[in-house]
Amino acid sequence: MDKFHYLDNAATTRLYPDLMETFQKYYLEVFANPSSLHKAGLEAERALTNSRKLVAGLIGAKEEQIIFTSGASEANNLVIANAAYKRVEPIMITTKIEHSSVKKALDFYANSHIHYLANDADGLICDRFDAVEIESANLISIILVNNEIGTIQNIKEIIARVRALGFKGLFHTDATQAVGKIPIDVKDLDCDFLTASAHKFKGPKGVGFLYCKHPEKIRAMILGGSQEHCKRAGTENVAGICVMAKALSKACSDMEENAKRASALKQRIADYVKQSSHFDLTINEDVPQSPYILSVRSDSAPSEVLLHAFAEKGIYLSSGSACNSNNPSTSSVLGAIGKAPEANTAVLRISFAADSKDEDVDAFLKASEELADRFQSVKK
Ligand code: PMP
Repeated sequence: MDKFHYLDNAATTRLYPDLMETFQKYYLEVFANPSSLHKAGLEAERALTNSRKLVAGLIGAKEEQIIFTSGASEANNLVIANAAYKRVEPIMITTKIEHSSVKKALDFYANSHIHYLANDADGLICDRFDAVEIESANLISIILVNNEIGTIQNIKEIIARVRALGFKGLFHTDATQAVGKIPIDVKDLDCDFLTASAHKFKGPKGVGFLYCKHPEKIRAMILGGSQEHCKRAGTENVAGICVMAKALSKACSDMEENAKRASALKQRIADYVKQSSHFDLTINEDVPQSPYILSVRSDSAPSEVLLHAFAEKGIYLSSGSACNSNNPSTSSVLGAIGKAPEANTAVLRISFAADSKDEDVDAFLKASEELADRFQSVKK
């Protein structure tokens, strides 16, 4: 493959290269089914237990509060299915800036009983909660770090506020773009559920986890065997889980340093955007936001055209959620912050990881200059 500059790390990241060895180990040596009772099976089960302990410890949870899943989509669905289970008219409270796996699961399970909280033009939740049936709500689900614009919600403060207002239901936060990137302590947050996906923190695809404060109250959505303490049937992805645990451990131990480096890369592009006539920042700079995600817009062409132009120069970006890439112009997140793309609006999401480099930013800036005459001014 030709050399390329990968700035689409909110969609997925490259695996930590040294973790390929762990994959090998759990596919070629410790490959037995962890449910098997022989010695090889017990060894695989031990590996799972150790990984669960490691993951739990890294987010301030207890081992039994972690359910391994195929990723954040499944974990989000499991939360919402449980909150709605056997309830005729479950009341769900959420935001208009959730990932599609929360949004569509809520539509599926709660349909007409979803209340959307107000957010401001930067995606921060600013609802006063006075129009909401807060006391009778079953679930509140709020994304921690938005995957398209990077806005970080103060989940801890929101949880404290809704509980003070009489909320007795379950509080879920989709922390897929936060885990391994910003400090997370579930005890400190005091959430009931938190979801994560390994491939966002340089772990493997197809594996993630759900934190549950009270796992004994959870019913499985995928039914079958008694894996994951009967909360999620199916032979465990032992190799994926072990690699995920190691990836999270690496990400957490280098968190501060990685975030500092990502921030500096992001700032270089933000500074360029601020002085350019053809780009603008999608959200305000002073808003709490992920050091790993920068959203910029331009009024020159549809997103697809700009993405293509950058891709031709070997720079890989996206316009928003990979899960919505078939139709970028319908981003509900951009709609919710009042910046729904019009025919000629491009929104570019530039996203970084621990292995992003200055040369990736150099390439982006050079390409932007080369493409400048194709842009029109976006600044009023
Ligand atoms: N939530 C958020 C915020 C995400 O960014 C993603 C991945 N795009 C998901 C959930 C779903 O993760 P996965 O595709 O790994 O299930």
